[in-house]
Amino acid sequence: PEAITVQELANRMAEKGADLVKALFKMGMMVTVNQTIDQDTAELLVTEFGHNLTRVSASDVDIDTAGDVDAAETLKPRPPVVTIMGHVDHGKTSLLDALRGTDVVAGEAGGITQHIGAYQIKTKNGDLVTFLDTPGHEAFTEMRQRGANVTDIVVLVVAADDGLMPQTIEAINHTKAAGVPMIVAINKVDKPEANPQRIRERLLEHEIVVEAMSGDVQDVEVSAKNRTGLDDLIEKILLQAELMELRANPDREAEGTVIEAKLDKGKGPLATVLVNRGTLRTGDVLVVGTQSGRVRAMTDDKGRQIKEATPSMPVEVLGIGGVPHAGDTLTVVENEARAREVAAYRQELATERRTAIAPASLDTMFSALA
Ligand code: GDP
Ligand code: MG
Repeated sequence: PEAITVQELANRMAEKGADLVKALFKMGMMVTVNQTIDQDTAELLVTEFGHNLTRVSASDVDIDTAGDVDAAETLKPRPPVVTIMGHVDHGKTSLLDALRGTDVVAGEAGGITQHIGAYQIKTKNGDLVTFLDTPGHEAFTEMRQRGANVTDIVVLVVAADDGLMPQTIEAINHTKAAGVPMIVAINKVDKPEANPQRIRERLLEHEIVVEAMSGDVQDVEVSAKNRTGLDDLIEKILLQAELMELRANPDREAEGTVIEAKLDKGKGPLATVLVNRGTLRTGDVLVVGTQSGRVRAMTDDKGRQIKEATPSMPVEVLGIGGVPHAGDTLTVVENEARAREVAAYRQELATERRTAIAPASLDTMFSALA
């Protein structure tokens, strides 16, 4: 059963703890201010003191998107979101750089590369692919623990001159646990001692049967250094994406996930957000985790100011009241009052969790006391 201390209830009612103790005594209960009372007793006291009791459920205060599914006819294809994983020094960063170099837009815009935690490339055929720029298993698992499953496809990088190493195995296990399809990129094939076939054989021991071994996991030989095999890799990513029928409704208020966030000395809180569905626009009012704000400006991965961000697009958002956490969700709401209400409610919940004074539902129940 839910309980609250007499003092905590008194605070919420803006009454003296001693007065509540007195009232309880009259009701036949001998308690001190530090003792807890059950919900029924608390409700009785609230009415006794002439306050109006308003039951407030979390769904009234917070945003509930659980049942909010977009109708099939509103869904449009969206680019895949790819995470690169693999053992240290097997070439994750080099491959991310090389893939970024294949972007046809970067060339023509002459934009300066902005490291915002994710980037999007456009292929010669006009297809888009989003890469999370923060490789690492910790980021991947931490996001998943926070309920954020932003990755559609994992590219596992294995150096052909090395083999399956501890972090390779770890990446395989994480990917399997997440149920995310994998593509194996056998890197450093330019090296004379490279032995791609040995990698494929080793993968069998972990139940990964690549296409070259008549399995269904796509594999590709690349050299991040010599920039070979990159088009092949992108083609395989797009093929996998097509099989997955990745779709989202772009014509609705935006929802997204924070990829990374920081406090910029000059600009204030900055968050890189990946749009999950809807279109994020400058001027939109939002709640991000326990923070509220308004989109003052958005910057893409080429440093360009943009006014709109569509599904699977990573964008750096300026205008959030505080620094959110990686994995936090972003939701656009109708007005600032609503944004502040939701953010305040979540902040209160977070504080409660830290101090564990009273269960959340009681907290919400009495938060509406005037
Ligand atoms: P990470 O730790 O997985 O991010 O690996 P890096 O991208 O930092 O690469 C580790 C080292 O391997 C660096 O010295 C790279 O220059 C080198 N390297 C990466 N890719 C290749 C490749 O395709 N061929 C060769 N010969 N060296 C590579
Ligand atoms: Mg690296």
